[in-house]
Amino acid sequence: MKHELPELPFAETALEPHISAETLQYHHGKHHAKYVATLNELLPGTELEGESLEEIIRRASGKLFNNAAQVWNHTFYWNCLSPRGGGQPDGPLTAVLEQQFGSFDQFQQQFNEAAKGLFGSGWTWLVQDASGKVSIQPMSNAGTPIRQGDTPLLTCDVWEHAYYIDYRNARPKYLTGFWNLVNWDFVAQQYQAAAPV
Ligand code: MN
Repeated sequence: MKHELPELPFAETALEPHISAETLQYHHGKHHAKYVATLNELLPGTELEGESLEEIIRRASGKLFNNAAQVWNHTFYWNCLSPRGGGQPDGPLTAVLEQQFGSFDQFQQQFNEAAKGLFGSGWTWLVQDASGKVSIQPMSNAGTPIRQGDTPLLTCDVWEHAYYIDYRNARPKYLTGFWNLVNWDFVAQQYQAAAPV
């Protein structure tokens, strides 16, 4: 079974001016594509050949884990973005963010601090654990909540390749653009799907 690079859920120009078509051409067309290609090179002959991407992430180590996790993380990241995104969520997710962070603004501020403070390359996640509690988790390199069995709700890619073309080294400016694109409908769906009944 070959793993495939999913199409972007929007046109390459759709996220401008916050994320340019050139960034997406490299980030999706080169970086994400390369993780998929490397995963397909590494898998044949291993015990994880034929397993789902999530199962590979849970069981692999080293280069295989890194590439599998990067494939999954990028697909999830694209789904977290939308040209019709931004603003604030509504519904049950709003209540849980207010309950756990005090307010939506405080949630956003804490997420920004985590993203700005992440040293080097990585991902900042909003995750939900099995008890239903949500938390902000910065993870280095290919880190992913899939590994520990938590449910990812939202992610921001803070590898420099996510923003260097548009913002050079200014990660905070990229974060401002990111909030204008967050697809809260998608995030709310992840929350509801994982909510304890
Ligand atoms: Mn990336």
